[in-house]
Amino acid sequence: MRIWSVLLISLSLVCPSAFGQTTASPSAAASQKSRNVIYITWDGFRWQEMFGGAQEILIAKDAGVADVEGAKQRYWRETDVERREVLLPFVWKTIAKRGQIFGDPSANAAAKMENTHKFSYPGYSEMFCGFADDKGIDSNKKFPNPHVNVLEFLNRRPGFEKRVAAIATWDVFPSILNQERSGVYVHAGPGPIPGNSLTDREKMLNEMIADTVVLWPDNQMDVITMQVAREYLLKHKPRVLFIGLGETDEWGHGRRYDRYLHAANRSDAFVAKLWELLQSLPEYKDQTSLVLGCDHGRGSTIRDWTDHGAKVEGAEFVWSAVLGPDTPALGVRSDVNATLSQIAATLATLVGEDFRAASPKSAAPLADVVKKLERQ
Ligand SMILES: [Zn+2]
Repeated sequence: MRIWSVLLISLSLVCPSAFGQTTASPSAAASQKSRNVIYITWDGFRWQEMFGGAQEILIAKDAGVADVEGAKQRYWRETDVERREVLLPFVWKTIAKRGQIFGDPSANAAAKMENTHKFSYPGYSEMFCGFADDKGIDSNKKFPNPHVNVLEFLNRRPGFEKRVAAIATWDVFPSILNQERSGVYVHAGPGPIPGNSLTDREKMLNEMIADTVVLWPDNQMDVITMQVAREYLLKHKPRVLFIGLGETDEWGHGRRYDRYLHAANRSDAFVAKLWELLQSLPEYKDQTSLVLGCDHGRGSTIRDWTDHGAKVEGAEFVWSAVLGPDTPALGVRSDVNATLSQIAATLATLVGEDFRAASPKSAAPLADVVKKLERQ
């Protein structure tokens, strides 16, 4: 397994065009409208809130909610359909109606990770590389990922070169995505935006980065990540952009259910604004797919909803959502198996590329997220 990856990596370093030999079928790719893909993750955001909104048992002092009445007013509604809509209006009023959502256990469609660690680096590695490697990827330390990831693959494909970027709250992404080897632009963690030709807005963001109170030394605040990503998109017009948000996980670990909900609600609003922005730009309008997901779940009880990891029951469950011009409006998917490892090939498929041809260990794309797959 390692030998195969090393061979692939060596091959791509010596001869980047080797990756250029693998293409999706030309007819399939030509019929697709989507030329760009934006992938956004909400770290450690549970399926329980995704499909059911705020959970009654956790809107409580014991779950760290400072103002229980205020939180209820804001996020509690009688039915799960109302609750999830008030928490995540873009996901439920737009993506659920015009796209697809995976991971609803009540629809016989629970989605799971394949790695057994149930924490972030193994989760992100699985989703970006297309398979779990329990032995090789077993910590959150900053070690270079030995496996080829889908952003790296796309960054070497004709038409995508230097048009692939990752901007994230957590500072381990340069290692997870192997920035050095992959050549993918990665800006992650609490450091300033690098470069000599910054826009006025980027200069202002760097002042805010310098002056923001650091709550978690290895994380940026999500609001900064969002704005840095938005500015990067406007300035560089990437064809593939990953945006990794992280406060849902941090507030979860901090046992602040109110702030965990608020972080998710703000993340949903960010996605809504970004989608609106994309539809206002000719490079992106009607030719961009959007994918949302998470790296792991969390526990399900008042005691362990804050945690995840190998011993936390239920933290293996994840979810994902897809919206775009080639994605049939199937809404909440039912009777389907989905795994975190399918994200890598899904991202490539959405822009007409075949990640599995370059990385055979990678799982298949999520079923039926692109129309052409229905005909195969
Ligand atoms: Zn965590």
